[in-house]
Amino acid sequence: MKIRRFRIIPLATEIADSARRKISAGAADHALVTVDSTGSSPCRHCLRWAQPGERVILFPYAAIPSDRPYSETGPIFVHANKCQRYSAINEYPADFRGGRVFRAYGSNYNIIDAQIVNGSEPEVVIERLLQNPETAFVDVRSVSHGCFTFRVQRA
Ligand SMILES: [Zn+2]
Repeated sequence: MKIRRFRIIPLATEIADSARRKISAGAADHALVTVDSTGSSPCRHCLRWAQPGERVILFPYAAIPSDRPYSETGPIFVHANKCQRYSAINEYPADFRGGRVFRAYGSNYNIIDAQIVNGSEPEVVIERLLQNPETAFVDVRSVSHGCFTFRVQRA
């Protein structure tokens, strides 16, 4: 197995659990959705596509903090029921090899580079972006919808 120089950072369990509490409390900016098609609702906690019939919570998440020029808050899904946080952090998640854009950010949260990958080798793109010493992390997003999927940092 090739040693990867990156590690995958799935959504923190505390954020997923917070969304599950808020949906129970009736938060207006949280919505409970029953998935009707494969490939529509990626869970940011287990890093799998939710399957038809599964319930997910849709809520806004600030991937880039609100006090920055590149601030970005957008909708993400997590499974409504508890799921296991993605743990193969040295392996690129198999469900998201296509339809992603990779954005490299500096330590000040400014975007410094970006590249689209469609089904080829996301690992190669990530390692190229991380070769730039200015890159602090890479955010992986949906090309079509723009939504944050997960973060990548150096191993
Ligand atoms: Zn999940």
